Amino acid sequence: MEADSVKIGLEIHVQLTRLKTKLFCSCSADYRHAPPNTHVCPVCLGLPGSLPVVNEEAVKHAIMTCLALNGRVARELRFVRKHYFYPDLPKQYQISQYDGPGGEPICKGGFVEFEYRGEKRRVRIRRINLEEDPGRIVLPGVVSPRLAPYVLVDYNRSGVALLEIVTEPDLREPGEARAFLEKLRSILEHLEVCDCGLEGAMRVDANVSVAGGARVEIKNIGSIRDVERALAYEIARQRKLVEAGGRVRRETRHWDPVRRVTYTARAKEYEEDYRYMPDPNLPPIPIPERLVEQVKASMPELPDQRLRRMVSQYGLPEHLVKQMLVYKRLADFYEDAARLYQGYQRLAAFLVNDMLGWLKERDLQDLYTRVKPEHVAKLLRMVDEGRISLRQAKELIKPLLETGEDPERLAEKLGYARIADPEKLRPIVEKVVRENPKAVEDAKRNPKAINYLVGLVMRETRGRADPRVARRLVEEMLRGGA
Ligand SMILES: [Zn+2]
Repeated sequence: MEADSVKIGLEIHVQLTRLKTKLFCSCSADYRHAPPNTHVCPVCLGLPGSLPVVNEEAVKHAIMTCLALNGRVARELRFVRKHYFYPDLPKQYQISQYDGPGGEPICKGGFVEFEYRGEKRRVRIRRINLEEDPGRIVLPGVVSPRLAPYVLVDYNRSGVALLEIVTEPDLREPGEARAFLEKLRSILEHLEVCDCGLEGAMRVDANVSVAGGARVEIKNIGSIRDVERALAYEIARQRKLVEAGGRVRRETRHWDPVRRVTYTARAKEYEEDYRYMPDPNLPPIPIPERLVEQVKASMPELPDQRLRRMVSQYGLPEHLVKQMLVYKRLADFYEDAARLYQGYQRLAAFLVNDMLGWLKERDLQDLYTRVKPEHVAKLLRMVDEGRISLRQAKELIKPLLETGEDPERLAEKLGYARIADPEKLRPIVEKVVRENPKAVEDAKRNPKAINYLVGLVMRETRGRADPRVARRLVEEMLRGGA
């Protein structure tokens, strides 16, 4: 069975994390560090008599995302009720949008171009819905969701503005899905609509089928890496089933990130199960052309433009810039450090090849609080000045990220700092010369024997002496006829 027979389509739920308030009420959308059920009001709890009011800023963010993904913005904003029974949804319906009779998503069509295995690929976007996030279900004290004895619900997240971005089933491989999602994340982060590294800010449902089988949906995968893993697991499972003469059922499955398996959640609902209906509390609102133009005019620099600019501005190879652009913060960090340190290539290689390995996806979210651009600039300047070796600079990355200390002090504390000051080295050289008269005599006759004396100086300083300065001092002292 060839890879061609695999079809993957994704539904990406993206929280509009830059908004101050929720989609239909004035509760704070910044719920992540709040005690459970403190950012709630009658609207987002769905109490009788409460009325939703649309957050205009959320509509602008949705339009901006639509334009960046090359989609068509709807002429009217239409909300529907999507019914289902679940503890995370107190109203028993979600205010969403519907791509069918009586409905219209805020964005239709579009595409994302990205690179995979050195080739240009394109995924078509089917639509983007603007909708409310349900509450958060918490499974207390368990490592695997299958073992949860009970669940808790936190409604702080209920009503947070969410985009549901749905692709056509254009993807064929788990790695390709990952590359696409990394590009999408980079675009969203450049638009400054979503800090995708925040817990739960980007959640993916992956639909996947193999030849001869029905489509299976894997719900709510929390990271891009896990999307790749879940797809790989699921494709292998489905293929094995088909090859053994079995049947892949249409169903919804969950991903267990700890055990790295998918498992049956429920038989898949069909569209009619949701009983979509226009929300009578939210009549259609026209989206004026002028608003779309205004959003278009305020569009920030996007990853493809930034790639071209950074390649020419800093004279960097494309592959280094592309790797930095996977995380907008890393590219920002590079540009901030590049204002202070002009070894552009060394800086880029250092960030991508050496530093990135120490940072997990979540760490990149608070990269700037872990390390300052001026500290990385300083570290590399110390290498250029011969005060530490490049290898030592690489060894300093971990303590630098852990302590946030000034690299100069850190190098001193760890005994890395090179002694390049002749005044500090001179007494050590004098001592070596005094204690090794035989070697000094040899060196006077045979310049190659100087290496031995320099080696002794290095040993005295436990490798910290700058060998060039040490050699110069030894030579001076030999000429001085010591
Ligand atoms: Zn509220």
